[in-house]
Amino acid sequence: MDSRRQNKLSSIFLLIVALLLAAIILFAKIHSESAGDESESAAETAKAGPSDTKKPAAAEVAQPAQKPEKAAVTAPAKPEKTEEPAAEEGVAEAAPESIKASKNEDDIEESQDVPNTKEEVIVKDDSNADSEGYLHGKILPKKGIEEALLKVPGLQLKHAMEISNAIRYDVDLTQIKAGEDFKVKFDKDGNIEEFVYYPDIVTFHILKRDPVENKLKYTSKTLPTERRFRIIEGSIESSLNESLVRRDDVTRNIRAVTVGILECIVSFSTDARRGDRYRILVEDKYYQNRQVPGSKVLYASYEGRQAGFHEAFRYEDEEPKSAFNAHYTVTGKALIPSAMRLPLDTIRITSPFGMRRHPITGKMTQHHGVDYGAPVGTPVYAVAPGKVIEVKQTPLGGKQVTINHADNTKTYYLHLNGYNVSVGTAVSARQRIASVGNTGRSTGPHLHFGIKNPQGNWLNPLKIKMIATPQLDNKRMPRFKKQMAEITALLKDTEKYQEWLRKYDEGPQPGDFYDLYDKI
Ligand SMILES: [Zn+2]
Repeated sequence: MDSRRQNKLSSIFLLIVALLLAAIILFAKIHSESAGDESESAAETAKAGPSDTKKPAAAEVAQPAQKPEKAAVTAPAKPEKTEEPAAEEGVAEAAPESIKASKNEDDIEESQDVPNTKEEVIVKDDSNADSEGYLHGKILPKKGIEEALLKVPGLQLKHAMEISNAIRYDVDLTQIKAGEDFKVKFDKDGNIEEFVYYPDIVTFHILKRDPVENKLKYTSKTLPTERRFRIIEGSIESSLNESLVRRDDVTRNIRAVTVGILECIVSFSTDARRGDRYRILVEDKYYQNRQVPGSKVLYASYEGRQAGFHEAFRYEDEEPKSAFNAHYTVTGKALIPSAMRLPLDTIRITSPFGMRRHPITGKMTQHHGVDYGAPVGTPVYAVAPGKVIEVKQTPLGGKQVTINHADNTKTYYLHLNGYNVSVGTAVSARQRIASVGNTGRSTGPHLHFGIKNPQGNWLNPLKIKMIATPQLDNKRMPRFKKQMAEITALLKDTEKYQEWLRKYDEGPQPGDFYDLYDKI
């Protein structure tokens, strides 16, 4: 072959390629200089709506898949803005003025940049949708459900608020965990048609648009699970906590619950000895041989040389969210070291303490308490003994009661329907003071409950262990005794089963049936 000719041809070819590349680069450069900024902001506007462009939410809606350079620019900006809210206590302590100013008012804020929903440009991006038209997302670490929703292409703040407001009365949003899945489907008009949150393989929380009322309606589906029981037992080297940390069959939750229960009956600091024994009965849930979340500690016991023998049983009311569902000693004594009692009989958290998107304005605001959803008229109780210092009505907090307690801790009860007390009334713990209402600025019947320490700082009520009662009453004791008997029977059965498993693993032993069979 003529190699010189070939060389010449290939160098001509390379030259043409180089020229073409140069032309492309030049064209791209001219184009980006003339229209660069506009096209970028236009792209953002299209995705997030014109009024949202200032907000971090808008940056989050940008799709990294389509514009990697842009995502790289917006990504570092995010943590600064959104990590701030995560440090709830820090924010509360750093801003005493604003806290004082918002003293009794629930959810106070002066909002100027409420999203303008009228001029939104709806751009749906179906490129990531699955074959059924769902867009998929995951719950983010330390973020509310709204922030995770805003990551879905085309999903705007108004959609996120509609979803979180429709679901918060049925799903405890304080329990959502990073990595859990959800999916969302838009209808042809760009509204949410369906939203499904499925934190595990058996639980489905579904919001579907009701065509008549044009509202998202909640339903749930739980696949049937099988309960399995196991006994965890062992002896202590240095501490119960350390013994449990070393085991791979004990989750952090089981450990925290067990240690929490037993430290109320055993004074570990003085009475624990090496060789003391513990025993825990755990109920696990399985679906098609796969474990799903929701393990429970049904029983825990401690037997120590110095400490003696102590045991605790789990009690459950018929109502799954009953404030009385907890662990008790054989005599019905509660095992939570706290003087505070829960303000309601049923605990459904609809909004936690700290930074959150306000359910009405959609703005990020500091929430100085916790919201418990409950029907209008539900009794509200004082969480500790004290004296009523305020009974009043305000535009935001509605009808409200404030109680001052012995150490000058104050508790606040907002959005009430009616009062059972007046200023100056001395109240005892669990005394009825009012009923749940929907007064003031509120999206639905709920109790806003706040605690302020003697220094005047708002505390997170969810970080304070509260119980319904220190002692189960006569009404509940028969049910508790029945449950104790069931748990005791389960303990025996599980023990037998585990013994059988151990033997099975060891193979035929001298003297057992199979050994005799071999000899015949
Ligand atoms: Zn509230």
